[in-house]
Amino acid sequence: MKPEDRSVVRRATLPLSETRPLVTPLMPSTVYCAEDADRLDAVYEGRAPGYSYAREGHPNAALLADKISWMEGAAGGVMTSSGMSAISAVFLALLEKGDHIVAGNQLYGRCLRLLTQDLPRLGFEASLVDASDAAAVAAALRPETKLLLVEVVANPTLRVADIKGLTRLAKERGLIFVVDNTFATPRAFRPFDQGADIVLHSVTKLLAGHSDVTLGYVGAQEAAHNEALYDAVTTWGLNASPFDCWLAERGLNTFELRYDRSQENAKALADHLRGLPGVLQVLYPGEDDHPDAALARDLLQGNYSHMVSFELDARRSGVNAFLKAARNIAFAPTLGDVGTTISHPPSSSHRALTVDERAALGISEGFIRVSVGVEDIALLKREFSAAVAAARQDGT
Ligand SMILES: *Cc1c(COP(=O)(O)O)cnc(C)c1O
Repeated sequence: MKPEDRSVVRRATLPLSETRPLVTPLMPSTVYCAEDADRLDAVYEGRAPGYSYAREGHPNAALLADKISWMEGAAGGVMTSSGMSAISAVFLALLEKGDHIVAGNQLYGRCLRLLTQDLPRLGFEASLVDASDAAAVAAALRPETKLLLVEVVANPTLRVADIKGLTRLAKERGLIFVVDNTFATPRAFRPFDQGADIVLHSVTKLLAGHSDVTLGYVGAQEAAHNEALYDAVTTWGLNASPFDCWLAERGLNTFELRYDRSQENAKALADHLRGLPGVLQVLYPGEDDHPDAALARDLLQGNYSHMVSFELDARRSGVNAFLKAARNIAFAPTLGDVGTTISHPPSSSHRALTVDERAALGISEGFIRVSVGVEDIALLKREFSAAVAAARQDGT
């Protein structure tokens, strides 16, 4: 090719290679070029592999969705731009005018807002009930109830949903049973094995694990559900970015190691907190005094995940003293990071609720939620001992 036949603009093709990179390449291309119109037809019609436009799919998302679908045992799934967009995709894909939703009353804060403020504005009603009580859920059903949405382990009180009872109910009443499996993760619990219809994740959390992506996943068993979810993601523009998918795939390589270590640390930290003066109660699904201990044992079989919540005998100033004294632990309103993070629901996830509404959920001013990471447990025990003592000091 003579130099004048080339263009510096967009004419390079990848060199042929007999070898492949070990690491998935990052493919940020918005668009894919076909040889001719017939080949493009074939790609669109699924007769040939390939992509056309990144909102409709790209290799980094496809690879990651396949991996999470495999972990969950889903027939298919799609990546979304956040956990919230995965939830939105479910509603946008499956609801029809007039449909009613029943959901757990301790869901992720934004999800509660979506159900109580945004969906009603669009004509969908939602009833929120205690998901650990299948009879209460049954009582909330209406003839027009279409969909049941729960979290396996709920934020921040770590209540456990009666997944088996709810699956039976959903089958009897022909409901679409949707499970947010973010807290438990497929390493602890696989909702499809119990008969759930749809599973979703905030991949932002433990699956990606490094607090550097905002990403979601939603997958289903029925082809019709998967098609509708894919169309909702593509049409409403809920798609995930290649870079986020690439980072999350890298994070997944160590997911099992991080999960196991974090879970082990969480159990040890729950035991440790229990012995500290100034701690009023510890919430951990693996302990006998947890309100859903029997459900947790039956469903999670010892895999109680990485979250521990507890109540300090403290007001705001004591909470501040606690946070300042825990110098090696980040005070950050997220969870699932490789390192331990502390959140204070009254000032973050549950700030929109009144004091009374929070009290009804068991969330006092001294309520602390810990997402336990992979640190040396001795360090965690030291940090928490010092921080709880600082809160007590404040109160005297
Ligand atoms: C964080 C979270 C979400 C929302 O996910 P984003 O990625 O922040 O949009 C949904 N459900 C649960 C249980 C979560 O923890």
